[in-house]
Amino acid sequence: MKKYWKPILMWIIFESVAITLWLTKGNLFYLLNFSYIGLSISLGLFLFIRKYKHARRVVQLLVGSYMLVYLGLICRENMQIEGFWYYLFTGVFEAATIHYAVAKIFGPLVFGRGWCGYACWTAMVLDFLPYKVPQEPRRKIGWIRYITFSASLIFVAALFLAKVGNIERIMFWAFIVGNVAYYVTGIALAFALKDNRAFCKYICPITVFLKPMSYFSLFRVKCDTSKCISCGKCKRVCPMDVDVTDNSRKRANGTECILCMECVRNCPKNAL
Ligand code: SF4
Ligand code: SF4
Ligand code: SF4
Repeated sequence: MKKYWKPILMWIIFESVAITLWLTKGNLFYLLNFSYIGLSISLGLFLFIRKYKHARRVVQLLVGSYMLVYLGLICRENMQIEGFWYYLFTGVFEAATIHYAVAKIFGPLVFGRGWCGYACWTAMVLDFLPYKVPQEPRRKIGWIRYITFSASLIFVAALFLAKVGNIERIMFWAFIVGNVAYYVTGIALAFALKDNRAFCKYICPITVFLKPMSYFSLFRVKCDTSKCISCGKCKRVCPMDVDVTDNSRKRANGTECILCMECVRNCPKNAL
């Protein structure tokens, strides 16, 4: 059982959040929602430990499609960043606010950018594309994320300042249009830059939260330098260009790690 401590800990964290929110808000949805997500992620970690090749993709499809189809389209909850601003401005502690707090703001202190590797419905589609490992050097255009981040904030603030009616309905359509725009841009960029995760590296506004918080992440891939033979394979298979042989928090692209474990699976010396 000892080797399964990570999925067990992950399940306990999510179940604690589920029960706490259920009891404090008196809403069974929170219990079911966070239990489902926690179980899916724990299942993925369990499958990974059992060396199942597609473990991460199983979780990503389970969680990503649930959030996109059930929460977004059926429950009509805008789970994109503009939904977060909207509920924040209205002062309503709704699913989108809780989702951001858990998955993208405070959660990354524990599980880094696990969201990006195991749950995001945008990456769920992008990861089907052919460039799983970047074929070209990284570009210095990460500043674009600050523009998309600011644009989302300005868009929602403008709706409030202009006292536009029926913002709830606008938020639903913004969710649909935003997702279509993300998919189109993400797929086009992946082919243009020969990198499935180009959208994540340069455009995604959520990384403005994710990157600084994941710098302090409890869960990190670490290198046992006594075993490492500096073959460089871990860097060659990494979709996010992380220098995982450097154990410091300042390692190159350290806040980009999505905990996909490709480096761990491919290390010939089990040094990671
Ligand atoms: S960087 Fe953005 S688009 Fe990419 S996986 Fe993370 S949240 Fe999703
Ligand atoms: S793949 Fe393993 S042995 Fe090779 S450089 Fe990376 S950590 Fe070292
Ligand atoms: S290959 Fe390793 S370092 Fe790169 S993103 Fe995946 S887990 Fe992180």
